[in-house]
Amino acid sequence: MNSKKKILLLATGGTIVSAETAGGDGLAPSLDIAGIFPYLPGVADTYEITAKSILNLDSSNIQPEEWVVIARSIYEAYPDYDGIVVTHGTDTMAYTASILTFMLPNIPIPVVLTGSQLPLAHPLTDATDNLRYAFAMSASGIPGVFIAFNRRIILGCRAVKVRTTGFDAFESVNCEDVGIINSGGLVINQSVLPKLSGKCRLLDRLCSDVFLIKLTPGLNPRIFDMLLDMNYKGIVIEAFGAGGIHFVHRDLISKLQKLTDCGIPVVVSSQCLYERSDLSIYQTGKLALRQGVIPAYDMTTEAAVTKLIWALGQTDSLNEIRTIFATSYAGEVTP
Ligand code: ASP
Repeated sequence: MNSKKKILLLATGGTIVSAETAGGDGLAPSLDIAGIFPYLPGVADTYEITAKSILNLDSSNIQPEEWVVIARSIYEAYPDYDGIVVTHGTDTMAYTASILTFMLPNIPIPVVLTGSQLPLAHPLTDATDNLRYAFAMSASGIPGVFIAFNRRIILGCRAVKVRTTGFDAFESVNCEDVGIINSGGLVINQSVLPKLSGKCRLLDRLCSDVFLIKLTPGLNPRIFDMLLDMNYKGIVIEAFGAGGIHFVHRDLISKLQKLTDCGIPVVVSSQCLYERSDLSIYQTGKLALRQGVIPAYDMTTEAAVTKLIWALGQTDSLNEIRTIFATSYAGEVTP
């Protein structure tokens, strides 16, 4: 009897399958995913792997349309596999991992995203190791969406790319790693695993009209009028520190009322990478709370933006979006 775990490998592009373009335009995805096996001796003896290429893009070109393609591919295939590995460019991998968490609630198998900082064919590549970690996690039986990178397993909705070139490109922000790979093998930290709470569903309606604004001292409040004119449906503000927004000289806060009156959810997070925002500490936050903004607490920007894109696909109701943001679906927030 075949006791090997059945793993589906879905390729979407990224550095991992990239090579220099003939025209000298830089690296672009080119290697066929079936070509990875010679680089991974022994892996095909350990797992029964089916490899499919569903996209072939630099991840800077992966957008909501592609998230739908990836989520549907996973949803259609998951009943037939023990685990799924998705190879993906590192640049937007944290966004994809985060939105897949919301699009595929209660996915009952491991879905593990990985990629690399150097192409698979490079003699010093990190791709082979990262793929091995991803396969190990995908065979673990632990449900959820994860990133495997540089010996770490990270909750998809807590991942942030923090380095442009270093092999330790991802961190789990405001949450411990789900696991590490060391001489003990794959060591899982049970305390951070998300709990299943029902049947897996595909919730793939998204609204991409979400704008992320990073506050800078002196920002002109008219920016919010422009966003309304442009028909943006949701805004995430990366505010200062614990959640401060300026109202002296240029009053951003009174503009926020106009947005919430128009039914536009405004989610406020912090520009600080670590620790939680708390808008109730300072007047510069509390006044914004009174205008009806939604606090992002300790969510990453990637999780806040993707959760809003997803939430606006599920409902137009500002109150329901408030409730969605006050709920942790898979460990993305500590409300
Ligand atoms: N530009 C690449 C991408 O995100 C970078 C990488 O894969 O590391 O697709």
